[in-house]
Amino acid sequence: MPRIAYVDGAYLPHADAAVHIEDRGNQFADAVYEVWAVRAGGLLDTPGHLKRLRRSLGELHIAVPMSDDALTLVLHEIVRRNRLRDGLVYLQVSRGVAPRDHAFPSPAVSPTVIVTAKRTDMKTAEARAEKGISVITLPDIRWGRRDIKTVSLLPNALAKQAAKETGAGEAWLIDPDGTITEGSSSNAWILTPDNVLVTRAASNSILNGITRLAVIEAASGEKLRVEERAFTRDEALAAKEAFVTSASAHVTAVVAIDGQKIGDGRPGAVAKALRTAYLTAARQNSVALHKREAGPLVARRTKRRIP
Ligand code: PMP
Repeated sequence: MPRIAYVDGAYLPHADAAVHIEDRGNQFADAVYEVWAVRAGGLLDTPGHLKRLRRSLGELHIAVPMSDDALTLVLHEIVRRNRLRDGLVYLQVSRGVAPRDHAFPSPAVSPTVIVTAKRTDMKTAEARAEKGISVITLPDIRWGRRDIKTVSLLPNALAKQAAKETGAGEAWLIDPDGTITEGSSSNAWILTPDNVLVTRAASNSILNGITRLAVIEAASGEKLRVEERAFTRDEALAAKEAFVTSASAHVTAVVAIDGQKIGDGRPGAVAKALRTAYLTAARQNSVALHKREAGPLVARRTKRRIP
């Protein structure tokens, strides 16, 4: 079965799906994106991702391409057409197509909307979570608006590649003041020796992860104290536990930083408990696709419990 993508109103096999060569996403990285985890056919954390998408579009003055309800329908349709049970859905909205010029097209053009889906091998994903990952640290060389989820990801891609080349699963990025901002595609967390969870406060320095927000909530349910503040590499090296959060990794323990073991070098109890708590809550709130008996396929927002 070919993978199916959505491009500006059409559902197409990947081989036929394309955007214009003068799309501003292509020439200027003038585009924003979101990634949803799909578990048991349900999209996780949908309202949070839609809210952040709107914020990113607003910050860049890109027009909102369609209502949240219409977009949710497209996302579900992509899940359905790809028969996706567990995986990721990727949405990208660019400013649109115009003859190349740095300034925005005037009058404005319609944004380009792309949605794709990718399957996750759950066995591999679970094995990775059970083992934990190691991270390396690198200077954060990105721009000053990391809070906007733009496709301008070259520094992130370079950092991830550097991590991969050393056998690490993620790179934690460090600001010139010595504090860790976040991972190349995840938020960074530590558990201090006196059992306080620390993750950097939301600001222009990091992407305010939707999983990060859900885990802050999950932590309060687990009666854990959370401090949203910057922490240094030294503080991380002395931590009891460390972990990353993202839509694709959920909560994944960090067992070593720059080759130095964290705790006993195995995923910690708090990271494991938060992974379970996060997934339980996210699955309960997930939006699943349901077929109608007759007529066109529609998406209904339902609370569905996933075993
Ligand atoms: N920071 C960066 C730089 C990211 O790319 C991501 C993942 N897109 C995150 C944090 C985590 O965000 P979320 O939990 O919304 O996936």
